[in-house]
Order: sequence, then C-alpha cells, then structure tokens
Amino acid sequence: MPSFKIVISASDCFKLPRIPVPYCNVMVLAMSSPTLVFRIVKNAAPIFKIRIARLATAAIPYDLIVIGGGSGGLAAAKEAVSYGKKVAVLDFVKPSIHGTTWGLGGTCVNVGCIPKKLMHIASMLGESIHDAKNFGWEVPERSTVNINWSNLVEAVQNHVKSVNWTTRVLLRDKKIEYINGFGTLIDPNTVKATMKNGSEKILKTNHIIVAIGGRPKYLDVPGKEHCISSDDIFSLPKAPGKTLVIGAGYIGLECAGFLKGMGYESTVMVRSVVLREFDQQMAGLITQEMEERGVKFLHKCVPIAFEKQANGEILAKWKNTQDNTEHSGVFDTVLMAIGRRPLTEELKAEEVGLELHPRSKKFVSDNEETNIPNIFAVGDVLEGRPELTPVAIQAGKLLAARLYGQSKLHMDYDNVATTVFTPLEYGCVGLSEEEAIRRHGEDKLEVYHAYYKPLEFFIPQRSPARCYLKVICERAAPQKVLGMHFLGPQAGEVIQGFAAAVKCGLTYETLSNTVGIHPTVAEEFTRVYITKRSGADPTPQSCCS
Ligand SMILES: Cc1cc2nc3c(=O)[nH]c(=O)nc-3n(C[C@H](O)[C@H](O)[C@H](O)COP(=O)(O)OP(=O)(O)OC[C@H]3O[C@@H](n4cnc5c(N)ncnc54)[C@H](O)[C@@H]3O)c2cc1C
Repeated sequence: MPSFKIVISASDCFKLPRIPVPYCNVMVLAMSSPTLVFRIVKNAAPIFKIRIARLATAAIPYDLIVIGGGSGGLAAAKEAVSYGKKVAVLDFVKPSIHGTTWGLGGTCVNVGCIPKKLMHIASMLGESIHDAKNFGWEVPERSTVNINWSNLVEAVQNHVKSVNWTTRVLLRDKKIEYINGFGTLIDPNTVKATMKNGSEKILKTNHIIVAIGGRPKYLDVPGKEHCISSDDIFSLPKAPGKTLVIGAGYIGLECAGFLKGMGYESTVMVRSVVLREFDQQMAGLITQEMEERGVKFLHKCVPIAFEKQANGEILAKWKNTQDNTEHSGVFDTVLMAIGRRPLTEELKAEEVGLELHPRSKKFVSDNEETNIPNIFAVGDVLEGRPELTPVAIQAGKLLAARLYGQSKLHMDYDNVATTVFTPLEYGCVGLSEEEAIRRHGEDKLEVYHAYYKPLEFFIPQRSPARCYLKVICERAAPQKVLGMHFLGPQAGEVIQGFAAAVKCGLTYETLSNTVGIHPTVAEEFTRVYITKRSGADPTPQSCCS
C-alpha cells in the first residue's frame, strides 16, 4: 500500500461530521503518489477504505469557476470579484499541430485581433512609404524597401507577451485565482483541472462559466499537417513566402491582405463565396480591390491534397467544383482559414448533460444560460452570436453582474459593429442589404450610396475606385437606419461612432442633418443623398462636391 497525501475537496469536508470518522466510504477520483484525490460517498459501496488520520487544509469552494481565460472569461471573472466573490479562472492552450502555444489572455491577445491588427498596420506602412515619397519625403523607392519578417514577429510577440504579463498581474491584484490547467467538467459543480505536468486538481464551485472560445478547423485532406493556421502565422519563425490561404472568411482575407502588402505572393482559395456573413456587394468590392493589389483568387475550388517537397515547399492540389478540373501549385506556406470549432468535446460538456447545437457543438442560448442551471456560456462558444472580442467581453461582464450584482441587463447582440482589416478596410454595423431585404422587403427600403475620394489618395494617386459607402434605411419617414457599410481608410474608426448612433435609433433625416467634419472620410456618411432606386451615378465629381 503506497503512502499518500490526502487531498479532500471542500464540499466533501463538510460531509465529514455526518460520516463516521475515522472510517468512511470514498470514491477515488485520482491516484498518483503522493497525492490521492477522493470523494466521500455516503451511501455507496466502499470502493476504497481509508483511515483519515488528519485532514489536509480544506479548500473553500469557489463561487465561480471560469473555464477559459480569454476575452469573455476574464471579463466575467473581473466583474464577479468586484462583488466580493471567490473566483478561479482556468486557462490552458493545447499546442497547435505545429506546436505553437501562447500565454494567458485567449485568442484575441495572442493569435487574433491584436497580432492581426499589428501585422495589418505593418503591411499598411509599406503603402505609406510609397505615399511619403509623393508627399515630399526623401525616402527610398517602395520597391527597394523590404520587410524583415523576423523583426516584425519579434516586435509583435514582445507586445503579446507584455499583454500576457499585464493580464497575470491584473488577475493577481484582483485576487482572481489563475489556474494554468485544462478544465473538464465532472459534474455541474465540479471541474477537473489538468496541469501541463499531468497532475490534476478537483475544484468545487457554485457557478461555472464556459468561455472556451474556439480553435481553427482543419479540412480532412491528405497532407493537412503541412498547413499552418492563424494559430501559427503570427509567430512563424521564418517568412511565409508565397502563401496559399484556404478560406475566404474575414480571417483568410485579412491574412492574405497583409501578406501581400508585405510583398509575399498570396492566393485565396474560395469554396463558395467571399465573406459569406457580410453584405455581398461590399464583399465583391473587397475582392476586386484585393485582386487589383495582386492577391489571386481561386473561386469555386476545394483542396484535395498537400504534399511536402524535398526542398520544403508544399505542392497543393485542388479541384474546381464548377468544371471538375484538377489543378496544382507550389507554395512556401499553406494557411488554413476555414472557420473555427469550439472545444466542447474536450470539455466533456455532453457527458455532464449539457445540450449543444447538433452541428456546431456550441451552446444555443438567448441569455448565456445553458440547460444546466448553474452553468453558463459566453463568447465564441455561443451558437449564432458574433465571434468578436467586444461581444465576448460585454456578455461576460453583464452575465457576472446579473449573477452577483442584481443587474437585470442582458447582452444586446443586435447592431454590433465590426471591421474587416483588409488592405482597404471594411466597417459595418447593422443589417447587410440582403438581410434587410429578407426582413423588410425590397420596396420598404431605401439604400443611399456613394463612391468617394479620400483626400489622402490624391497626391500619391491611389485609386479610390472602391471607396464606397451605403446606408440602408426604412423607406418610410423618418427613415430609420438599418445598416451602414463603409469601405475605405480607417473604416473601424469611422464606423464606431455611427454604431452608437444606430443603437440610439439613427434616422436618415438625422444623419443628413448632421454636420460633417471636413476633410475626413467619415463625413461622407453625412453627405450621402443618391438612392440606389434612382439609378443616378453615385461617383463623385471632386473631393468637396
Ligand atoms: C485571426 C483572428 C483575428 C481576429 N480578429 C478580431 C478582430 O479584429 N476583432 C474582434 O473583435 N475579434 C477578432 N477575432 C475574434 C476574437 O479573437 C474572439 O471573438 C474572442 O477572442 C472570443 O473570446 P472568448 O472569450 O470567447 O474566447 P477566447 O478568447 O478564444 O478564449 C478562450 C480561452 O480558453 C482556453 N480554453 C479552451 N478550452 C479550455 C479548457 N477546457 N480549459 C481551460 N482553458 C481552455 C483557450 O485556450 C483560450 O485561451 C479574431 C480571431 C482570430 C482567430
């Protein structure tokens, strides 16, 4: 009989006085010398009899265990401790198939919004070198200046690591217990944390918030292991070179866009449509703009195999699903960006009785509640909700305030603004034109639109051909605004303020009575007057017309 240190869970220790001590029935949950983790089972047959000589200091059960230390989970944890609750956050990153791993903070900080935007900025700076020369700066020709990928990755990763560090410090300061372990559900009040070294902790809690986000999906085709994903690109040790991006969602387009801007040949493979979730007129303009900048698109194509060549290059084979022809090409890097999947299977969600969407395996919920009363879910793990950091943060914060702060406020998932950081950025809020037509009918809508010429494009003679915006309104006065779409420089900055206005019930009347800030690109929204219905030419005559 090996000698064990006894670890007893907090809730079990409360049962002890009612069970004859020193002998009691126990169910052994984990046994790895020198630690024995067990649960006391009052009326069950003895599985293991043990003499409890002295109890180890019992841990107090948690009010809340958050599984997933990303945008949503951290926001919920911070809110919960502000009401004096005892909170632990479990965060663990399983390495990508290429072994990439990262620190605390979730997708956004480590392999999402932040490194993506930094790389987008790096890419756009290349364009600024070209512009600067035209504005009189004595800088070398753009064609003679190259990006140093290693330096870029180092700078980006240094920033990411500094955010990881600040996040840890913040958790410590707020007295949120951070457990770097992978969480699995044992029962509605019990979470098992498995640490990197394989040791396990059993944790008891009143509430659980599942905020486990998602990870990139991989197509099941031969040689898929030669492909990287967005989990790897931002820390890739060597320059990606000629890159094939599989998938034309926003992540695929953004990666292809910044790589091309940095001088790497990039090709996007599109199975069906570009930016499926977005307004398709805007998606078409983005595609044209990217094509003009040299990004290639393989429309209606699906990969069939990837083979690694002796020189390290990847031979990609694909099929055109329209004419059934097969094609191939050689790339330095293939990046899969075909969507993301939640890790609910690994969480053992269904084993404890949690109901999931049959296909996506996400939680279906209107109010972040699950079918088990004390288990909740926020962020990307929710079915049909915008997969965006601010959405996860807001939902996590509001949920914790409802649980502990007597708040009644619910997350409003409508009119969430977002931006696609393609070389020409696309910002939008509200309905796409297709969705507006579906909900309201075409003859109940008025769509105002305009092409415009950003002042900053004139001197460097940049093409404004796809600088375009539209405002989708109800046709009846006062013409409530249902959607706003903007393609052009600084689209995220432009659309953010309008998003607040749309939430306040913005009408076309108010928009056209708003005095613009001149000369900006955002002012174009206050000047738009041509309706699609009129058929009038929406192209501008001059910058201040
Ligand atoms: C390339 C890319 C670019 C993006 N760009 C933007 C953008 O510009 N703007 C924007 O708003 N959003 C963007 N997003 C989306 C954004 O990152 C997500 O919407 C957001 O991170 C979701 O937050 P979350 O809390 O749901 O999950 P996450 O931030 O993904 O956090 C989940 C955490 O839980 C951990 N975890 C998972 N399972 C377990 C477990 N069982 N135990 C312990 N830990 C676990 C994960 O490792 C992760 O750390 C981007 C995403 C990607 C991939």
